[in-house]
Amino acid sequence: MELSIATPDDWHVHFRDGRAVGDVVREVSRQFGRALAMPNLRPPLRTCAEALAYRRRILQVAPEGFEVVATLYLTEQTTVGEILEAAASPSVVGVKFYPAGATTHSEDGISDLATCEEVLSAMEESGLPLLVHGEVVDDGVDIFDREERFLDEVLAPLVARHPRLKVVLEHITTRAAVDFVNAAGPSVAATITAHHLLHTRNDLLVGGIRPHFYCLPVLKRSQDRRALLEAATGERRRFFLGTDSAPHEVGRKESACGCAGCYTSPVALALYATAFEENGALDRLEDFASRRGADFYGLPYNGGRVRLRREKWEVPASMPFGAGRVIPFAAGRTLTWTVTGRDPI
Ligand SMILES: [Zn+2]
Repeated sequence: MELSIATPDDWHVHFRDGRAVGDVVREVSRQFGRALAMPNLRPPLRTCAEALAYRRRILQVAPEGFEVVATLYLTEQTTVGEILEAAASPSVVGVKFYPAGATTHSEDGISDLATCEEVLSAMEESGLPLLVHGEVVDDGVDIFDREERFLDEVLAPLVARHPRLKVVLEHITTRAAVDFVNAAGPSVAATITAHHLLHTRNDLLVGGIRPHFYCLPVLKRSQDRRALLEAATGERRRFFLGTDSAPHEVGRKESACGCAGCYTSPVALALYATAFEENGALDRLEDFASRRGADFYGLPYNGGRVRLRREKWEVPASMPFGAGRVIPFAAGRTLTWTVTGRDPI
């Protein structure tokens, strides 16, 4: 069985920096025509100049025709001037909001969103989307409840204060988040990862702790996975593809204190196809992967198509990652869909 879809976008990728970028971009560009690069480098990308320089570093090692769009990292010092410059740049498409301490390299994020009111108003006026890591970081809140609490305590008041602000709730993991997006107006959308569509916390924790299934927000229950699958494969167009592919060198994952992040880029489309097939919705994969996100961001569709075949293949046990190695998601497992090529037209 063959499947051909318009060349898709990945609206959430951690390309990293330095030598590893080439290894990541090779995998992403094999399947996607465009990707949104996350700004949580060290130090983070606080200005348009930094974000655009990072974009150029990625493009330098990317194949011709691959497009990268960049984001700013929101801090409590971000200025309205920076927002207006970003809004005027065709290559900067959003601003990422990390609650301080929520995930990898989020130390420079936001402790109190009230400090950003002017900046948020400028984004609302100029149509520049806010990309949200939606978890509270209160030590007293259970890690499995942090997304749901964020919806109530941070996102609902934010959307009420700024009803026209475009918001992308990134990598949603719960039924509560699906319900929130469904109930919200047209300015609120969400990305869904492949691993959250296919896996639950049992895969992380039953029969031994599996660090390569550890990401943030952490995998949730089967009823949450079911809600994500229904959202991704449903008719609502405000759910779209973002892998949150986040490679770490193997020693930083297989450790007594392993980093959060799943490196799904090498297997991304294969996983999404598997999830859509499970729900009998392969005919909706193209809309989810190649149309909805571009429509939300107001960007043109990619040219060309990507071909997949229902053919078994074994995911490599490890892959090059700069000077080291990275374990791809599903390493050593047999997947049922293979990306066989790209057609330029
Ligand atoms: Zn991410």
